[in-house]
Amino acid sequence: MKRTSILFQIVVSMALAAALVAWVIGDLARRYETQRLTQQLTEQADLTVSLLGGLMLDAIIVEDVPVLETGLTEAIARNSKLLAIQILSENRNVIAEANAVQGPEPRNYVLYDRPVEWDGVIFAHMVVQWSTSEGQAMVQEKVRQTILWTVLSVGVLSLLVLFLTHMLAMRPLQMIHQRMSDAISGLKRPTEHLPWYASQEFSALNFSVGVMEDTFVERDEREFALEQAREAADIANGAKSEFLANMSHEIRTPMNGVIGMAELILETDLDEDQKMYADTIATSGAALLTIINDILNFSKIEAGKVELESETFNLQTAMEDVVTLLSPKAAEKDVEITLRYDPDLPAVFEGDVGRIRQVITNIAGNAVKFTLEGYVFIDVSGSTKGDLCDLSISVTDTGIGIPEDKIDHIFNAFEQVDGAATRNFEGTGLGLAISTRLLRLMGGDISARSDAGGGSVFTMLLPLLVSGDSCEPVWPDHVDLKGLKVLVVDDLELNRTILFERLTNWGMHCTLAASGYEALDALAGARARGETFDLVLQDYQMPGMDGRELAFQIRTIPEHVALPLVILSSVEQSLDPGTRQALGACELALKPVRSTQLHNVISRSLRPHAASVAPSAAPEAVALDGKTLKVLLAEDNKTNQLVVRKMLKDAPAEIMVAADGIEAVQMYRDSRPDVVLMDMMMPEMDGLEATLIIREIEAVNHLGHCPIIALTANAMSTDKEKCLRAGMDGFLSKPIHKKALWEAIQKTSQINDMLRTGT
Ligand code: ADP
Repeated sequence: MKRTSILFQIVVSMALAAALVAWVIGDLARRYETQRLTQQLTEQADLTVSLLGGLMLDAIIVEDVPVLETGLTEAIARNSKLLAIQILSENRNVIAEANAVQGPEPRNYVLYDRPVEWDGVIFAHMVVQWSTSEGQAMVQEKVRQTILWTVLSVGVLSLLVLFLTHMLAMRPLQMIHQRMSDAISGLKRPTEHLPWYASQEFSALNFSVGVMEDTFVERDEREFALEQAREAADIANGAKSEFLANMSHEIRTPMNGVIGMAELILETDLDEDQKMYADTIATSGAALLTIINDILNFSKIEAGKVELESETFNLQTAMEDVVTLLSPKAAEKDVEITLRYDPDLPAVFEGDVGRIRQVITNIAGNAVKFTLEGYVFIDVSGSTKGDLCDLSISVTDTGIGIPEDKIDHIFNAFEQVDGAATRNFEGTGLGLAISTRLLRLMGGDISARSDAGGGSVFTMLLPLLVSGDSCEPVWPDHVDLKGLKVLVVDDLELNRTILFERLTNWGMHCTLAASGYEALDALAGARARGETFDLVLQDYQMPGMDGRELAFQIRTIPEHVALPLVILSSVEQSLDPGTRQALGACELALKPVRSTQLHNVISRSLRPHAASVAPSAAPEAVALDGKTLKVLLAEDNKTNQLVVRKMLKDAPAEIMVAADGIEAVQMYRDSRPDVVLMDMMMPEMDGLEATLIIREIEAVNHLGHCPIIALTANAMSTDKEKCLRAGMDGFLSKPIHKKALWEAIQKTSQINDMLRTGT
């Protein structure tokens, strides 16, 4: 709606008021004047009747008509307002009358009927017709003038009001409004003072606007300062990230030398002391690297540089990966690490599995680290609603625990229960801080409960999207286990429960025994009932009768000489080949067993001619058909050149070394290597640029694709992308390990062969 100005509103209101006042006053004036006119006429009529009556009394008494008519005509002629006069007798007969000589019948007149009397005696009646036209015209004129004057004075008054309103209200208001608008839009103008006559109220308002102006100025200054601070912080943050990337590069480069050389020394003939020294160098190097990774990780999260990925993954497998990774550490100190994955939970989810594994490794790793004996139990449960599963992952340990007053602090960065001076355990104090932040990024959280000395429970809550993909685990060695009867023997109730859940989930019927003796009783009971077990799944380390003894006891029973046995042990080679031979159908699995692995080992043990195969070793390096690979190493650091040379010393490879990017490009032109190992940071020309040039040479000359593997000390994942975008085929982060290096060379050159032969 378009708004009108206040002046316009005042003008309209005043005009309406003037009209109303004029109308009211006009009406009053009309009434008054009309009344006055009537009064005047009455007085004149009375006067005329009494004069004429007096003058013509004698003629009236004798009814001298001619005299009377002459008198009456005379009277009419003298007074223009008299229209007609009649003299009536007492019984109202006309005695005489006279009329003004006029055209049409007059419309505006009044009639007066008065007695003609003398000394209280009425002699006749006189009727006078009196014209009111003139009087009414006068009244109208009077009323017109009154209205005119009223309108004029109201108009003048309105103008005066308008002027005053403008001066006293509108002008100060406009000035204040202008000032306010300027303040809001941040316009700087010299302040205009209010006129001297401005009222107290406007002065107060103006003062308030002044205060607001000051507040705005302060706010603007603060915002400017903030903006500048933010820019400075952005620059500093960028510098920090760059510094970290650089530091990581600077530290990783020499670390590559240290760890690589230590690895190489360990492969040589060493006496015990020398081996211990080299081992220490290698493990200290690895520890230092963990610390660098932690710090780098933490500052990346702090800088908001962590982007979560989303992929479909099997959570149970991911959890088992963590358990497998941690179990050697746990086994070293007689700590058992077990995993329970609620069979009712979906297995396949969508999320950042790398980060989830990192968090669980951290928490479970702490549990293993701070537990000297007993167990670490990881329990994965949750509730699913539609697509979303609210997972609850708890890690329980029987370790040293955390005092109550410290429990809230351990989630902060660099906070540890025991001070630096009294530290018994390694660590940076960053693990929990990183895990907490990662979990929160994923929409989850973490909490801890603990008794000092009595172990701790860390509970992670994590909402994850359930994937629509198939959740059925793939059993490579598929045998249907449904309906099979199994006797589970383990002294730990937790283990019995987990095994029970898993096996029942596969459709097996479980009988549980807490010791070797109970197991033998269960077997005897079954025999007595004429039943048989299809399988015995037994723990190795048990108090009283251990797994080995139980196995032999079972074999002494004639009915059970061929009963398939699966022994779970946390010690490798707990049964020597001779013993296994003696036991017959017996499979051994290393704890912690993964779900698939357990399924496989049970399946294997049930096959009629199950061969007792030792767990398969790591895949042997695939030979390259006796061919010698030409490897071009572009690396400026002398130590690292040496490390790579030595690592590839036994490989069928001929190594050429370029000390910078330019030399690398030149050597590529001259000798066309089979594979290039390219350091990212080199003087003169860096690895990215050199790769781009090599790819260009290939394109221009229609040459085959030469695999280029980046060797980089930068641990940021963006670097990996940069390498791949520049046309590299692989990526190795320093410090480089011999096996990883050789595998990467093999992989890329095999792919290359396939590309060449088109298979
Ligand atoms: P770090 O393990 O590198 O010292 P963390 O942030 O992972 O750093 O843990 C912080 C501290 O919390 C540890 O130093 C330890 O004192 C305490 N802590 C964490 N987990 C456990 C646990 N399971 N049992 C006892 N103490 C723990």
